[in-house]
Amino acid sequence: MTSLNNAPVLVVGAGIMGTGIAQVAAQAGHPVFLFDMREGAAAQAKTKLAATLDGLVAKGKITAEAAAATLARIEPIPSLDVAASAALVVEAIVENLDAKRSLFRQLESVVGETAILASNTSSISVTAIANGLQRPERFVGMHFFNPVPQMKLVEVVSGLQTDAAVARAIEALSVAWGKVPVHARSTPGFIVNRIARPYYAETLALLQEQAATPQRLDACLKAAGFRMGPCELMDLIGHDTNFAVTNSVFEANFGDKRYVPSLVQRELVDGGLLGRKSGRGFYTYPEGAPALPATAHEAPLAMGPVTVHGDGEIADRLERLVTQGRLSGDATPSRQRQSAWVGLAIGGARLVLTDGRTAGDIAAREGVADVAVFDRPLLWPAAPGGALAYAVAPRASATWRQQAPAWLAALGFAPVPLADAPGLVVARTIAMLINEAADAVLQGVCTPEGADAAMKLGVNYPAGPFEWLARWSVAGVMQVLESLDAYYRGERYRISPWLRRTLA
Ligand code: NAD
Repeated sequence: MTSLNNAPVLVVGAGIMGTGIAQVAAQAGHPVFLFDMREGAAAQAKTKLAATLDGLVAKGKITAEAAAATLARIEPIPSLDVAASAALVVEAIVENLDAKRSLFRQLESVVGETAILASNTSSISVTAIANGLQRPERFVGMHFFNPVPQMKLVEVVSGLQTDAAVARAIEALSVAWGKVPVHARSTPGFIVNRIARPYYAETLALLQEQAATPQRLDACLKAAGFRMGPCELMDLIGHDTNFAVTNSVFEANFGDKRYVPSLVQRELVDGGLLGRKSGRGFYTYPEGAPALPATAHEAPLAMGPVTVHGDGEIADRLERLVTQGRLSGDATPSRQRQSAWVGLAIGGARLVLTDGRTAGDIAAREGVADVAVFDRPLLWPAAPGGALAYAVAPRASATWRQQAPAWLAALGFAPVPLADAPGLVVARTIAMLINEAADAVLQGVCTPEGADAAMKLGVNYPAGPFEWLARWSVAGVMQVLESLDAYYRGERYRISPWLRRTLA
């Protein structure tokens, strides 16, 4: 195989992605041919790139010489034949299987025998694009993220016939381009677009059952460390785009209910409420999401002796917070490590860390009326705002309805009321992200390390799914999923066999 070191690269498609890919390749020292079927588009892209590079020079990020050299390496070309010397083609044209297939068939007769053919497709099967090529083994997915110069992740996607050496060459090249490659098998959504589905889907499901407002759900997930809540993120991506990706993953999985799209999102799309770009989605723009108004809570009442239940990090922290805040008066809180639940017994009431069961379910099973469940806190101390969802059992006393949030506030959180939905917001979303990642690993799509890197670099998650799992526990995650499964019935919350096997 030809060495790709500074070899000529042909980028086909001079849109958002192609322009970014051309920039990155040229900055890494490759001569770049840029082609677009729209006349003048490649030259226009180069002009735009010149302005981008000027901006980088003005900010002191690159020198004027480097900018000029980068630009000089990019050659807009009027026809593909000019690029016969290319050792690598990266295609970034319209997301359409037929268009991509016919382009690559044409390219096989343009470039040399040893050139690598790569597609930046975000959703089409790499195996399917390669079908009909004379040498499908040299065809691979090279999936960049937008904006290409800033986003570090490249999913290197192997189809059924991709030669492992070709994938390795693209991985090495990605590193040389300053990127972090993660290898993926060609399956619907690859890694990031697949594992990310529950981040949107669980919030959309909660919205559909009117468990909370977008603002509250966003606040809870941001307090768990996500840069943007799912609602503001969907507004940014555009509901049409987000809905299309969900649909494509759903259809590509033969209608598996795990990936079923949401009526809530469909209505936004049908109504043209596409988010930021149309001026309105869940929120109205340019204002965007209003901050959750702060609610003042009185100091909690002493309702009897306080016992910290359970073992592990969260119970330990609760004990410390109760002691430091003197929330059990002058008495030190007692501790019951051997307990079926984590949380606080306060007199006859229980403040329980969610294990997936609803507060109402726990109250009925345990014969205790005053039960509240609270969401899984992921960050200590709580992230700014500290929003944490809670729900109170339907038959709880009026006093406990008031006291449950007062206790959470005294523990340092900003309590956010939610309908009594299983797994609340963060526990449910994180459990489903872990479950999806576990299935991806089970199916050989990626390794656990690959999944973690992909989610942190491709969509800026504060941690990877397997990092969350390491801090939680397989049994704990399975318990939340089992509760969701029992509550809602159906395929959506079925547990990944990978988790079952890991526990065994
Ligand atoms: P875009 O619409 O900005 O650009 C596509 C360009 O390809 C256009 O300039 C168009 O004229 C040209 N084109 C279309 N058909 C062509 C053909 N047959 N031959 C030559 N040129 C042709 O699109 P984009 O957002 O840059 O996306 C390009 C590809 O990258 C798609 O496959 C998309 O799924 C993928 N992708 C997009 C993103 C993103 O966030 N936009 C992220 C990752 C991957």
